[in-house]
Amino acid sequence: MMTGIVYKSTGSWYTVKAENGNIYQCRIKGKFRIQGIKSTNPIAVGDVVDFSLETKSDEVTGVIESIHERKNYIIRKSVNLSKQTHIIAANIDVVFLLITINNPTTFTTFIDRFLVTAEAYDIRVVLLFNKTDNQSEEEFMEAKYLASLYRDIGYECLGISAKTGKNVEKVKALMTGNVSMFSGHSGVGKSTLVNAIEPTLNLKTAETSEQHQQGQHTTTFAEMYDLSFDAKIIDTPGIKGFGVVDIAKEELGDYFPEFFELKSECKFNNCLHINEPQCAVKEALENEEIAWSRYKSYLQILEGEDEGYRKNVYDS
Ligand code: GDP
Ligand code: ZN
Repeated sequence: MMTGIVYKSTGSWYTVKAENGNIYQCRIKGKFRIQGIKSTNPIAVGDVVDFSLETKSDEVTGVIESIHERKNYIIRKSVNLSKQTHIIAANIDVVFLLITINNPTTFTTFIDRFLVTAEAYDIRVVLLFNKTDNQSEEEFMEAKYLASLYRDIGYECLGISAKTGKNVEKVKALMTGNVSMFSGHSGVGKSTLVNAIEPTLNLKTAETSEQHQQGQHTTTFAEMYDLSFDAKIIDTPGIKGFGVVDIAKEELGDYFPEFFELKSECKFNNCLHINEPQCAVKEALENEEIAWSRYKSYLQILEGEDEGYRKNVYDS
């Protein structure tokens, strides 16, 4: 039996890189259900699998026998209307969220939704404030304010310029030894950054994003790439951010680290931090220890939860 990592999956075949560096085309035998997830794909890019080899008319292929426990995984709702999900990728060490203050504007509600999803998926996020080479005084102050806000609640933040290369070495250091993903609005500089990191790699993320905005549903597959230094990237063409996660109302506050920290001090242990008496979160908000923008995002996610779910289903 051999062990390897799934680099690509096209439905019935999986490209697996074995520990010895060899690459095998593998398939699954029979029914393969794991960890109770109802997904359209049992195995995703990033999965660690055990497989055996088969030789048929001189061709060596692999048969995946089992899958190692996942550290985490990201999903999206399946394209058909069933309740099934599609696993985009597994075992992600770090997601870099690129943020720009202007052109395009990255709103805090977007950042916060992203962070909530990442918390729910148990994925480390690093916030990269890009285009620092071309900022007005005002934009500089705004980026600085946001970086300190998110740093205070425990997220790593870094000001970079994909164009001039500022702090790109630091990004590479954070990627070393890890499986990384890059996210953020179209136009924030993902392709420019990846190109600065690894000029020969041409990720499809940016190419398909425009098509995707026009509402076309192209079937695309995530793919993992080895870089020239000890790092891996997962490219997710056509997939913007993560899938929607269904979080119970009472649970949402747990994914805002600064709210979660105060939860035990609220009078009610199921406090939603809205109108309840003796709410430690509201108190902290009034004392300016919690940012209004974070609280606003919290309320927006709470209110829009059902709507968001419906939208996702109808969209597909
Ligand atoms: P993507 O859609 O996220 O992949 O964004 P791109 O990498 O295509 O970048 C969008 C635009 O922003 C391009 O015109 C880039 O040249 C520009 N851009 C990217 N990074 C920077 C940066 O650090 N500074 C400046 N001034 N422009 C940048
Ligand atoms: Zn409360």
